[in-house]
Amino acid sequence: MSNRADAPALAARAASVGASPVREILALTARPEVISFAGGLPAPELFDAAGLRAAYDRVLAERPHQVLQYSTTEGDPELRGAVAARLTGGGLATGADDLIITTGSQQGLALLATALLEPGDTVLVEDPSYLAALQCFGLAGARVLPVPTDADGVDPVALAELVRGERPKLLYLVPTFQNPTGRTMPGPRRRAVAEVAERHGVWIVEDDPYGELRFEGEREPWLASYPAAADRTVLLGSFSKVLAPGLRLGWLRAPAALRRACVIAKQAADLHTSTVDQAAAARYLADSDLDAHLAKVTAAYRARRDALLAGLPQALPAGSSWNRPAGGMFLWVRLPDGHDATALLTRAVAQDVAYVPGAPFFAGPADAAALRMSFTTHTPEEIAEGLRRLGKALGG
Ligand code: PMP
Repeated sequence: MSNRADAPALAARAASVGASPVREILALTARPEVISFAGGLPAPELFDAAGLRAAYDRVLAERPHQVLQYSTTEGDPELRGAVAARLTGGGLATGADDLIITTGSQQGLALLATALLEPGDTVLVEDPSYLAALQCFGLAGARVLPVPTDADGVDPVALAELVRGERPKLLYLVPTFQNPTGRTMPGPRRRAVAEVAERHGVWIVEDDPYGELRFEGEREPWLASYPAAADRTVLLGSFSKVLAPGLRLGWLRAPAALRRACVIAKQAADLHTSTVDQAAAARYLADSDLDAHLAKVTAAYRARRDALLAGLPQALPAGSSWNRPAGGMFLWVRLPDGHDATALLTRAVAQDVAYVPGAPFFAGPADAAALRMSFTTHTPEEIAEGLRRLGKALGG
C-alpha cells in the first residue's frame, strides 16, 4: 500500500513548546539510590491515607448513585462551601458560588489561558517563575516576559513600567513560598502590586498552592483581599500540597464574568472534575481535622528545611548564597559566579544526588549559577547524607 498521504502536521503551538521539562527533571529521581532535592513531591509517608480511605468508603457506601454519576462543571457544592469557609476564615470573604473546583490548580491555569489569552498577548511573570505555568502560557501563544525580582518578589517600580509599556493581559504571581525560590512577598509589596493593577489595568493570577505550609511567622493577606485589585485578581488553590496531589483537586476564585468564561472552558476540557474525588474530599474536610494534619506535615517539613539549612554551608562552594524560606517546599541557591548549575548536575547525579538547575525557570535570560532544592521528600538524616554527596560533587 503506497498511496498513503501523510497525516497533517501538529498545531504550531504544540510544535513550538518542547517536552515538559518537569517530566525530564522527575526522570532524574527515579533510581532508588538517588537522594533527590529535585522533585516537588510532598512526603508520601505523611499522606493521611487512612482518613482519605474512610472518606471514600463513606461516600461510596452512603451515596453511590450520586458520587459515581456525572455532576456539575462548577463542582461539588459541599466542597466549594468548605473551601469558601477556609478562605473566609483566613480573611478573604468568599461564598461557595465564587469558586470553581478544578482538576488540580494546573487546570486553573489552563482555563485562565483559554478564557483570557489570544495568541500574541503578553503575560508578565516573576523572574524566575513556575515552569509549568510558563509552559501553559507558551502553549496559549502568549509572549511571556519576566518582571525583575528581589528577595521580596517582583519590583513594583519595574512592574509599573512594564505594565505601562507592554500592555500585558495578566500578571502571574506565586506570592507565598514561591516555586522555585521559596520567597514570600511581604504585605506592603502586595499592596504596591495591587495598586499597579488598579492604576494600569491588568489581571493578577495569584497562585497559592503552598500558603498553608507555613513553618513560622504570620500569614500575609491574599493579594485578592486588597480592595485595589479585588475585581481583577484570580486566586488559585490546591489540595495537592495539603492532602495529596494524586487527588487532582484544586479550585479557582474569580470575579463573576471571568468565572463564567472559565466554566465554559472547563466544560469543553473535561465536563467536570471527578465526582467521587470531590465528594470524598468534602467528606474528609467534614470528618477529619485538616488543621491537625497540616500541623503534622509542617512540623516535619520545618525539620527537613532546618536539616538542609544546617548542611548547606559545608556542601556548597565558598561564596554560594541561599535563602531561608518560612514555609513551602523549596529554597533557592546561587553558586558563585562562573559556576554552571546545569553542567554540575551531571557530577551530582554521578554521586547519587540531584537538584534542579535554575535555568528553565527563567522566562528571559537565565542565571546559570542558580538552582532549586526541595526539602520535603527526605528525612533529615537522608538530607544530611545527600548534602555530603553534594559536597563531593561540587568540591565544596
Ligand atoms: N502552581 C504552582 C506554583 C505549583 O508549584 C504547582 C505544582 N507543583 C501547581 C500550580 C500545580 O499543582 P496542582 O495542579 O497539583 O494543584
